[in-house]
Amino acid sequence: MTDRLVLVINSGSSSLKFQLVDPDSGASRATGTVEQIGEPSSEVADHDAALRRAFDMLADDGIDLKDCGLVAVGHRVVHGGKRFHRPTLLDDEVIAELQELSPLAPLHNPPALQGIEVARKLLPDVPHIAVFDTAFFHHLPPAAAIYAIDRELAETWDIRRYGFHGTSHEYVSGQAAAFVGRPLDEVNQIVLHLGNGASASAVVGGRPVETSMGLTPLEGLVMGTRSGDIDAGVYSYLFRTAKMGVEEIESMLNKRSGVLGLAGERDFRRLREMIQSGDAAAKLAYDVFIHRLRKYIGAYLAVLGHTDVISFTAGIGEHDVAVRRDALAGLGELGIELDDERNATGSGERRISRDDSPITVLVVPTNEELAIARDCVSLL
Ligand code: ADP
Repeated sequence: MTDRLVLVINSGSSSLKFQLVDPDSGASRATGTVEQIGEPSSEVADHDAALRRAFDMLADDGIDLKDCGLVAVGHRVVHGGKRFHRPTLLDDEVIAELQELSPLAPLHNPPALQGIEVARKLLPDVPHIAVFDTAFFHHLPPAAAIYAIDRELAETWDIRRYGFHGTSHEYVSGQAAAFVGRPLDEVNQIVLHLGNGASASAVVGGRPVETSMGLTPLEGLVMGTRSGDIDAGVYSYLFRTAKMGVEEIESMLNKRSGVLGLAGERDFRRLREMIQSGDAAAKLAYDVFIHRLRKYIGAYLAVLGHTDVISFTAGIGEHDVAVRRDALAGLGELGIELDDERNATGSGERRISRDDSPITVLVVPTNEELAIARDCVSLL
């Protein structure tokens, strides 16, 4: 059989990530990022220029997209709203509906739509498919999905907890069940996706029952630049008293908060160096991050009642030994016994709990591009 390949595009406001994936073998053929889109000093003026640059990078790798077995282009779309919860073939009608969803995800969906528009123009002969970050959480139980606010208002404006990073939570929970050698539908698990964006989920038999992100990806854990959970009263207080506008507040909470807001640095490798050199703000930021994470782990253990597996994934979850240790330290009474040696060594998918730990703790590298590519071919 000749190879079939899927080009996966993750188009953000200032960066465009791409990966050419073989959905059958799972191999990545090429990958790259075009950064600083639209920034004043940048040569990449817009998403059109960014995608052309991505194609040039692929050509430099000897890949001709017109003649490499490309069967689909998969687009990561952050918000699918109420309507989209399956991989969806992008046509003019679907794109128009996605545009209507932009108010729900003003920071995320518009750049994805720009990426879709130029990709369809440049590669008109292959199907383009949207895969939604919210999809996995579409069937969250009502008790977990509903905010306790005026019901009619919530219904009128589609306000509920949607959840994000769904592609990663679904992929990692599948991998984790396979790793422990049990059918997915028998495993109760917690997935901790800790990257620049961070989210937790509780999954029963392959179906999510809780997740930390809400209407937008702002809710939940402390993140690189987002506050995570915050009293909604802060919004009105800043609006009324500090005379900040809605956009200013939104931008502050999403782009200048979290670890960056507390320590002036969002990258956990740098944050670690700062802590080691005695930076008190960096230490406090780390402590706030860990405290929130532990609070969520405790909450999800209670939501699940019985937990079989906890998995760490994404940049911090896969690589930061201290975060994993501090997140789970002293939880022996709750059934969690980390093995310090295992936690500090090894790479790739692995067990980091002791063999006698009632709850198995794993590191499971996420692979959202592969999951998106597989979603795409499942639709073809
Ligand atoms: P995203 O995909 O959300 O942009 P990633 O999953 O790539 O983010 O995670 C980025 C985070 O992971 C950064 O804070 C980075 O410092 C952290 N990270 C990556 N590698 C390591 C490492 N070896 N040790 C500690 N943290 C790491």
